[in-house]
Amino acid sequence: MKTYKLAIAGGGSTYTPGIVRSLMDRLEDLPLEEIRFYDIDGERQSKVVVAATAVIREYSDSIKVLDTTDPETAFTDVDFVFAQMRVGKYAMRELDEKIPLSHDVVGQETCGPGGLAYGLRTIFPMVELIDFVEQYAKKDCWIVNYSNPASIVAEGVRKLRPDARVLNICDMPVATMRNMSAILGVERDELKVDYFGLNHFGWFTRVEVDGVDRLPELRKHVSEHGLLTEDVSKIDYRHADASWIKTFKNIKPIMDFFPDYLPNPYLQYYLLPEYIVENSNKEYTRANEVMDGREKSLFETVRKYEETGVLEDAFHVGVHGIFIVDVTVSLAQNLGERHLVMVENNGTIPNLPADAMIEVPASITSDGPVPEYVGEIPYFHKAMIDQQLASEKLLVEAITEGSYEKALQAFTLNKTIPSAIVAKKILDDLIEANQAYWPTLN
Ligand code: NAD
Repeated sequence: MKTYKLAIAGGGSTYTPGIVRSLMDRLEDLPLEEIRFYDIDGERQSKVVVAATAVIREYSDSIKVLDTTDPETAFTDVDFVFAQMRVGKYAMRELDEKIPLSHDVVGQETCGPGGLAYGLRTIFPMVELIDFVEQYAKKDCWIVNYSNPASIVAEGVRKLRPDARVLNICDMPVATMRNMSAILGVERDELKVDYFGLNHFGWFTRVEVDGVDRLPELRKHVSEHGLLTEDVSKIDYRHADASWIKTFKNIKPIMDFFPDYLPNPYLQYYLLPEYIVENSNKEYTRANEVMDGREKSLFETVRKYEETGVLEDAFHVGVHGIFIVDVTVSLAQNLGERHLVMVENNGTIPNLPADAMIEVPASITSDGPVPEYVGEIPYFHKAMIDQQLASEKLLVEAITEGSYEKALQAFTLNKTIPSAIVAKKILDDLIEANQAYWPTLN
C-alpha cells in the first residue's frame, strides 16, 4: 500500500498531539512513513513535538519524525500538509478580544472585529505557506487548512492563489453534529445533515437519521436545554468548559426567535451581540482561559514527561482531530465521503454570488471537494450572508490594495459593529496593536 509523508504547519499548536493521535488511529487507512512538524517558533514547537513523538511511538517505531523551522526541509516531497497556524499566537488573540470589548463590541477570535483583525494577520502567511508547498511538495499535495479565521482565509486564498490545492475546513459543524447525535441517542456518522452558509455563519436545514428528518425533535429539545445533553459529560472535553456550555445554551434563544433552521453556534455573536458583550469579562477573555488552561497544561505535561517518562495526558481531541483525518483519508483514497467543507459557490446556491466561499456538504475526492447542489436560500439568511460576505470580501480587498477605506467599510458592514464611528475607533486601535503584522493601510 502507498505510504505518505505529511507535514503539520503550526506544529507548535496545542492541538498537535491530539491530531497526531487521530492520525495514528487511522494508520491502516492513511499509512504514514514520515510526519514533519513546521513552525516559525522553533522553541515552542520542539516542546510540542516531544509530546507528539511520544504519542507516535505508542503506535510505530518506524514513522520518521522531523522537527524544523526550515520550509524546504519541511515540505520537500510531502503528500499532505495540515495547516493550523495562529499568526500572532494567543497574545494577539487576547487583543483581538479585548480591544473590541473596550468599545462594548463583541470580542471574539473569528467573529466581529477580532476575526477581521486575525484575518488581516493571516492572509499573507497563508499565501506564503501555499507558495512553499507549491515550490517543494509533490505536485498533487493537498493543504488541509484549519487556520482561522477560515472564511476570510478561504476568500484570501481564492483571490490570491486561485489554483492552490487548499481544502478549508472547520470542526464547528461536526462538533454541533456531535451534540445533535448525543441528544438523539445515535452515532454521529448516522446523521446526514443539510447545511448552508459561510464559515461560522450557517444553518442546518435538515438532520436526517435513516431517512427521517429529526430536526423537529431537536427543535423541541433545544427549546428546553439548548444544544446540550442533560448529561454534559457526553460532550468531548474541548467543548465542555463553561464558555462552550454557554454557547450551546445560546442556540435556544436564537431558535426561539427563528425556529426553522438550527444555527451554527457562532451565530450568537451576530444575533445576540449585546447579550454576549454584557456577559463577557472584559479583563479575562477566552484567550486568557486557553493560555491558563490548554496551553499551560500541555507545556506542564511535556515538562513532566521529560522528567519522568510518563505521559499524563492521553491527548484525545475528539472531533477536531477525527474530522481533519477523515477528510484527508477521503482525499487520499478518493472515497467521495460526504463532509461539510468550504468551496467556491459557482451556482451551488444560485441566489448568492458565484465567487462566494460557502460552507456546504461536498463529496471529498482526490481532485478535491464536489459540492452538492443546495438551491436558493430564504431571503433572511441570504441578506445576512450577503452582508457578512461583503464585509469579508472588502477586508481581503483592503489587504491586497493596502486600503484603509476598504478596511473601514469591512468593519462598518460587520453586523456586530453598530456604526461607522465605532468601526473607526476599533479599526484605529487594532492598527496600533497589529503594527508588527498588518501591512500599512493608507
Ligand atoms: P496555537 O497558538 O497553540 O498554535 C499555533 C502555532 O502556529 C504556534 O506554534 C505558532 O508559532 C504557529 N505559527 C504562527 N504563525 C505561523 C506561520 N506563519 N508559519 C508556521 N507556523 C506559524 O494555536 P491553536 O489554538 O492550536 O490553533 C491553531 C489554529 O487552528 C488557529 O488558527 C486556530 O484558530 C485554528 N483552529 C481552527 C479550528 C477550526 O475548526 N477551524 C478549531 C480550532 C482551532
